[in-house]
Amino acid sequence: MATGEVAMSREETEAFKVLVKNTLERRLFYIPSYKIYGGVAGFYDYGPWGCQVETNVLNLWRQHFVMEEDMWEIRCPCVTPEVVLKASGHVDKFTDLMVKDEKLGSCFRADHLLKDFLTKALEEFEEIKREREAAPGVAAQVVVEKKDKKKVAEKKRELLTPEKKREMQADLAGLDEFSGPELGAKIKAYGIKSPESGNDLSDPYPFNLMFSTQIGPTGTLQGYMRPETAQGIFVNFRDLYYESGNRLPFAAAQIGSAYRNEIAPRQGPMRVREFTMAEIEHFVNPDDKSHPKFKNVADLEIYLFPRAEQTALESHVKMRIGDAVEKGIVDNETLGYFIARTYLFLTKLGINKNRLRFRQHLANEMAHYAQDCWDAEIECSYGWFECVGCADRSAYDLKAHTAKSGHELTAYEKFDEPKDEMKLTIVPNKKVLGKEFRKDQKILSESLEAMTREEALALKAELEEKEKVTYKVCTTGQEFQLTKDMVAISEKLEKSHGRNFTPSVIEPSFGIGRIMYCLYEHCFYTRPAVPGEPTTTVFRFPPIVAPVKCTVFPLMQREVLNAKAKKMSNGLTRAGVSNKLDITGRSIGKRYARTDEVGIPFAITVDFDEGVTVRERDSKQQVRISDVDVVDLVRDLANGSMVWEDVTAKYKLVTVTESEADS
Ligand code: AMP
Repeated sequence: MATGEVAMSREETEAFKVLVKNTLERRLFYIPSYKIYGGVAGFYDYGPWGCQVETNVLNLWRQHFVMEEDMWEIRCPCVTPEVVLKASGHVDKFTDLMVKDEKLGSCFRADHLLKDFLTKALEEFEEIKREREAAPGVAAQVVVEKKDKKKVAEKKRELLTPEKKREMQADLAGLDEFSGPELGAKIKAYGIKSPESGNDLSDPYPFNLMFSTQIGPTGTLQGYMRPETAQGIFVNFRDLYYESGNRLPFAAAQIGSAYRNEIAPRQGPMRVREFTMAEIEHFVNPDDKSHPKFKNVADLEIYLFPRAEQTALESHVKMRIGDAVEKGIVDNETLGYFIARTYLFLTKLGINKNRLRFRQHLANEMAHYAQDCWDAEIECSYGWFECVGCADRSAYDLKAHTAKSGHELTAYEKFDEPKDEMKLTIVPNKKVLGKEFRKDQKILSESLEAMTREEALALKAELEEKEKVTYKVCTTGQEFQLTKDMVAISEKLEKSHGRNFTPSVIEPSFGIGRIMYCLYEHCFYTRPAVPGEPTTTVFRFPPIVAPVKCTVFPLMQREVLNAKAKKMSNGLTRAGVSNKLDITGRSIGKRYARTDEVGIPFAITVDFDEGVTVRERDSKQQVRISDVDVVDLVRDLANGSMVWEDVTAKYKLVTVTESEADS
C-alpha cells in the first residue's frame, strides 16, 4: 500500500472511495454526463467546483512549464484527418486487446481482467496466510467457508502454493508486456471467465480506440477525434522551428481534449472517453540530450521504479535523480529533467510525494522506437495509476510525418569547422526518361532522387554491369526498365558546412483529469465530530488550486452585515481574488462546514466589530484584521507568496469557537 502511509484494508479503501465519490458528486465537482437520460459510461461533466479546480491546475501547468521553461503553446483542432493518424501509426496500432463474453457479447479489456484476477488472488493468498498464522490448520477452511462456493474454494486452495504466488506476482509485474496470444493463454490457464455471467471468453483481439467521423457532407474524407494532442505539434514542427530562430532545443505545448473509446471504463473519473491532456514536445539534437538546467534539479530525491526492480518483484526505490541519470537508469539529462519538473509540479499541486513514483516501461511495453519511458504513477483507491507519461520518442514522429507528407521535418546544424564528406548526387535524365516513359517520368524521377545512398550505389553498380535494369517505384509498385543513360549517380568528396537531421523528441504527456482525481483523494479527510455535530469532510487543497480562495460571510442575518459582506466580496473580486459570498442565513458553523467541504482555504466573517476575522480551513484558527488590509493578505495567501504561519506570527489569534459564533 502507500509508502510511508498508514495502509488501508480493501474494505476501508472501498469505503473511502465511496465517501470521496459521494462528496464530489453531491457538491458538483463531477456530474455523470447525461445523467437524466441514464448516463453514458466514460463521460463526466465538471460542475462549478470541478471547473474552477481544472482552471487552477491548468494555470499552474502553464506557469510551471510553458512560462518557466519558455515553451510555445499552440492549439489545434480535435477533428483530425485520417492521413495524419495513419502516418503516426494510430490508425493501424492504437489498439487495446479485447475479449468478448462468448454468449452475451459483452466486451472486456483482456489485460484488466487478468490484472483484477491476479490482484484478488494475491490478496486472498495473503488473507489465508494471515489466518493460517493466527490459527494453523483451519484458516484456509475459514476463508473457503466465507466464500461459500465449494468449487471456487478448491480452485483457490490449489492455487495457493508459494510457487503459484510467485508466478502470479511475475505475471502481474509483466502484464504490460504480454502479446495477444500470451494474454489469451494466461486467461485460459487461470480459468478466467466473464465477470458478469461466468461464461467463456473469446481469444483477445485488437480493438482500435479512436472515435471515427466523416469530415464534410460527402462522407469521403475520413477523420478521427484525436486520441492525443501531440500530433498537432509534430505537423507544425517546421513553422515552430522557424519561429524559434531555427535553433534547438525548443519545446511546444498544447492543452486540449483527447478522445479514446475505452473498452470498459469502470474506474470512475480515472478512465474516461473524453479527457483533457496537456502535452509537451521538447525537440532536441539526438547527439546532445544534456539539459542546461539539470543541475538545478539533480539533488531531488524521487521514488523511481526501474525495470530491474519490477522484474525482480521488488519495490520502488528512493533515488537522487542526478544519480539515476549518472548511472544510466534514466537514459539522459533532458528526460531526467522533465521527470523532476513533473515531480515538482505534482507535489506543488498537492499530490502526496510518498504516493507518487516514476515507473520505467518494461522493454516490450515501450514502443519499438522509444529510447526510454517513465510513467508518473500516483497511488489512489484504484491502485497505482499512470497519470503522466514521460517518454523519449527518438525521431519517430517527425520521420513518420516527413515520409507521409513529403515535407522535410528536419533541423539544420552548422559545423564549427567545415568537414570533408562524401556527397551523393543523383541526376535523372528527364529528357530521356520523358521520351521513354511519358507521363510516368515525374514519378520515376522523384523516386530516383529519393533513393538512399545504399540503393543508389547498388543501382549504379547494376547499370554498369547490365544493359537493362528493372527498377520498382516503391510508393506505386510500378516497374521500369532503366538504362545507363537515364540516371547519373556519382559520389565525390566535398566540404560540408553543416547537416540536416531529424530531432529527437522528449514528451511529457499529462492526463489532467487523472491528476485532479488523485488530488481530490490526497486532499480529502474527515474531521472528527464536534460533540453534538455530525462529522464533516474537508479537501485540504493548497490555496493555489483551491476552487475559490475565500468565502465571505456576515456573522448573522442583518441588513447592515450583508451590505458590509457584499462590499468586501466586491473588493476581493476587483483585486482578482476569487470568492463566494454566502448570505444564506444558515448558522455560521454550517456555513464553515460547507466551505470546508469544497476546500475553500479562507473564510472572512464580517460582524459588528471593527475589521473582519479571517479563518484558516484546516487549523480553524482565526485572526482579526482591518478590512482594508484583508484583501492583500488573502491575495498573498492565495497565490502562495505568504503562508498561514506568517499571518499568525503577525496577528493575534482570536479565540472564537465555531459553535459560540452560531449563537
Ligand atoms: P498515453 O498517451 O496513453 O501515455 O496517455 C497519456 C496520459 O493521458 C496518461 O498518463 C493519462 O494521464 C491520460 N489518459 C490516458 N487515457 C486516459 C483515459 N481513458 N482517461 C483519462 N485519462 C487518460
